[in-house]
Amino acid sequence: MNLGIQGKWALVCGASKGLGFGCAQALVREGVHVLIVARGAEALQASAKKLMTDDVRPESASVQFVAADITTVEGRAAVFARRQDFDIVVTNAGGPPPGDFRDWDRDAWIKAVDANMLTPIELIKATVDGMAARGFGRIVNITSSAVKAPIDILGLSNGARSGLTGFVAGVARSKLAAQGVTINNLLPGAFDTDRLRGTMAGAAKKIGQTLDVVMDARRKNIPAQRFGSPEEFGSICAFLCSLQAGYMTGQNVLADGGAYPGTY
Ligand code: NAD
Repeated sequence: MNLGIQGKWALVCGASKGLGFGCAQALVREGVHVLIVARGAEALQASAKKLMTDDVRPESASVQFVAADITTVEGRAAVFARRQDFDIVVTNAGGPPPGDFRDWDRDAWIKAVDANMLTPIELIKATVDGMAARGFGRIVNITSSAVKAPIDILGLSNGARSGLTGFVAGVARSKLAAQGVTINNLLPGAFDTDRLRGTMAGAAKKIGQTLDVVMDARRKNIPAQRFGSPEEFGSICAFLCSLQAGYMTGQNVLADGGAYPGTY
């Protein structure tokens, strides 16, 4: 399917690896110009190179990168100093750490809310009016399946991301919807990334098991019996950014191999 977004400009955050990289790769393969952001310049440069040398990339698609912490005012200013008129924005930053809510102080909450609620809201605020003026825009927020099925040790994520979800539900249905701008959340279940492996390694250590044993047990709990790949996550993201998805807005799209047990 031709997604009809060749030549558009996308900002993809948290894109040196994992799900953000998967989204950038899928967009580049559609001929979209991408500006990728992550904190570490070296890893980001290597990822930009990987995107540029991708066999499937149409030659017209360019790749730029800005090394910045997207959760800070300065980081966002560095990105928008490079370019402002993005047609597509994929918001993403690292997820908050797991733990017991009794141990989280105000600073821990502020950090989680900053990264997983206020940063996407700031990015939306900075870009949607330009998109609306040009008659086309796509925002995809990478959130988590924890928004629909909360995980007790991920309270910081459950809380902060629910705030973003509520905000998006409202703004997506504002007059932006009639101006060609869609805003959706893409909710990963378990995807094979460094973050997933890191979380599993912590769990394995806690119960004195190997990483393989814990990963296997988790896989068996997923109806698909496997973890998702960043590449397939990226393809769903690219579809949400497509012309064809223009009538989809304000949605929470779950990609979890069937793990969410509810009917709706
Ligand atoms: P990852 O750790 O593999 O990659 C995260 C990327 O974001 C990296 O490129 C990192 O450099 C970048 N990043 C982190 N903090 C940043 C910041 N402040 N500014 C700019 N870049 C930053 O993680 P992932 O598995 O790709 O997860 C992406 C998001 O999806 C996270 O919020 C995570 O909590 C959420 N999530 C992931 C899964 C999963 O199974 N992988 C499941 C549910 C939710």
